[in-house]
Amino acid sequence: MARKQDTDAKQQMAGDLDFSVRLMEHLVVPTFVLDAECRVIIWNKACERLTGIEAAEVLGTQEHWRGFYDSPRPCLADLVAQGRTAEIDALYSDHDHAGDGAIVAHGRRAENWCVMPQLGTRLYLAIDAGPIYDDAGKLIAVVETLRDITAQKTAQDELQRLATRDGLTSVANRRSFDDMLNMEWRRASRESRALSLLMVDVDFFKRFNDTYGHQGGDECLRHVAAAMSGVVKRASDAVARYGGEEFAILLPATEPDGALIVAERIRAAVTALRLPHSGSEVADHVTVSIGVASIQVTGNGVPSSLVAAADAALYRAKYTGRNRVVQAGKTA
Ligand code: GH3
Ligand code: MG
Ligand code: MG
Repeated sequence: MARKQDTDAKQQMAGDLDFSVRLMEHLVVPTFVLDAECRVIIWNKACERLTGIEAAEVLGTQEHWRGFYDSPRPCLADLVAQGRTAEIDALYSDHDHAGDGAIVAHGRRAENWCVMPQLGTRLYLAIDAGPIYDDAGKLIAVVETLRDITAQKTAQDELQRLATRDGLTSVANRRSFDDMLNMEWRRASRESRALSLLMVDVDFFKRFNDTYGHQGGDECLRHVAAAMSGVVKRASDAVARYGGEEFAILLPATEPDGALIVAERIRAAVTALRLPHSGSEVADHVTVSIGVASIQVTGNGVPSSLVAAADAALYRAKYTGRNRVVQAGKTA
């Protein structure tokens, strides 16, 4: 009698398990399950649709990475199964920081750009990996669920970009410049490198507006910003709208001689635009004055001192005739 009850219970359990697997197969959330040896035991229909890989191709293998990446690497479920959660930071764009790196009692959540080799499209996926233990506390499986959040990520990145860009000229805005200056100042201090800054101001711009109208002035600022952006080449160089018709150009790891060369190139690039400016007293086209300052960052000093030095040099460039470059610490 007891044996029959036992058999009934086992059959019931097997039936339940079968039902659960079938349920998971048709779950709308893309899901795969690994056993403790990181072999795929479930790869549901939604996961087939998301990855373009059929269950038959991966079941029983450790090749699930093929759905997401173009070369072998662990997926989140592998890291959870193998207790390698300390590696999540290096392998994912973003992740939750909760939990202990050594003992994984709970699931982990991460986000990543995946190349999706079978689909040929990059997707940004939100990934959850949750371990399942038997009654004795032994890991028996890890369930990984995936969510395509590419649209949200793209929108979020675009918002981030808009928050750091100047609306008129599309170069970095003032807030972003302040952040970059602080960051580059710290980096220059760590690496004992020079940091240079150019302050660029359009000559007689009030008169430009008076002559060509405010919209003409806006258009002029767009051209000047684009010309300056075309001159600076290094990835760490940054052109920013400091305010009004004044721009700041940050040149990390650049010595005074190099900064002077860039400044002269900028002046030449704006001149080459040949934007008519009949109100200017120094040329018949739009020109700029540039103040250059460089500093060897040591432990002392503050970033604003570099701005003040470049500003003072710019003032001298204006005072001594405009349409010129003046370097801080040198006589004009
Ligand atoms: P200087 O050669 O000494 O620099 O003379 P300036 O006329 O350029 O200097 P000032 O600072 O007196 O004038 C700057 C003008 O820039 C004032 C303002 O009308 C104009 N300006 C500031 N921001 C904008 C903007 O976003 N669009 C337009 N069209 N004009 C702006
Ligand atoms: Mg001006
Ligand atoms: Mg000005």
